[in-house]
Amino acid sequence: MATDDGLTVSVSQLKEFAICPRRFQLHRVLGVEPAFVPLPLALGSAMHAAFGAIYLSMLERAEVAPVDEALQVFRDSWARAVDGPVPVKLDGDDGDPVDAGIRMLVAFHRHVMTAPPVSIIAVELPFSGIELHDPDTGETLDERLSGVIDLVVREDGRNVVIEHKTAARKWSRNQLDHDIQLTAYQVAARESIGLGEVGLRYQVVTKAKFPVVQSESVVRDRLGEIDFMRTATGVLRAIGAGAFWPNRGWACAQCPYATACSRYRR
Ligand code: SF4
Repeated sequence: MATDDGLTVSVSQLKEFAICPRRFQLHRVLGVEPAFVPLPLALGSAMHAAFGAIYLSMLERAEVAPVDEALQVFRDSWARAVDGPVPVKLDGDDGDPVDAGIRMLVAFHRHVMTAPPVSIIAVELPFSGIELHDPDTGETLDERLSGVIDLVVREDGRNVVIEHKTAARKWSRNQLDHDIQLTAYQVAARESIGLGEVGLRYQVVTKAKFPVVQSESVVRDRLGEIDFMRTATGVLRAIGAGAFWPNRGWACAQCPYATACSRYRR
């Protein structure tokens, strides 16, 4: 993606293309306004703001923010989403999303309070300028990878990169083993941020009546990094070639670009 700083791409952009190239085109290339903000996206953003506030309090004040403080951050962020220019699509059967968010955040706060103390290294750590290269040809692409790492902690003499997710249910082994986000962050931690070889962990908070925090350490080996580079270079070459096919399937039911997409079918 062209920016003032040059050509950059983020992991979320790569993932969006993988879900549906046409959706990527409508959103990122043609700049079509989404019809709505999907509830999981709005809720996840508000939750992330609260997670960040909890960890920032640990970094800056050496204490875990009281749960009421974190809840206020969540409520403020949610209110901004609901008052934003694009309506949040509220799912009818899922109950009040604010209640769901409060339950999730209370569970997360309890998890942080009862976990062994950790040393916070960074919260919302940005990176950029990561080279992307084709592992088969050695070619370096013009685009550079950029992103923001949720959290870095120091544990047992090494840095651990932690990514937070909110989800309807716990992540499966396949999701944990193959999600590209922490693979990308492992490369970034080593090549740009100076964190060296890091540990990797997902913390998944479930949106359930009784939410749980799934904390799972994962490993990304050299082959995993090669897979990530193949994914990134493949996506970027497809974008460069203007290959934006519709990937009709499960994502269509909640697609904010479905109306614009339907015009292409006539
Ligand atoms: S409606 Fe389906 S095929 Fe069309 S852009 Fe959305 S996800 Fe892609």
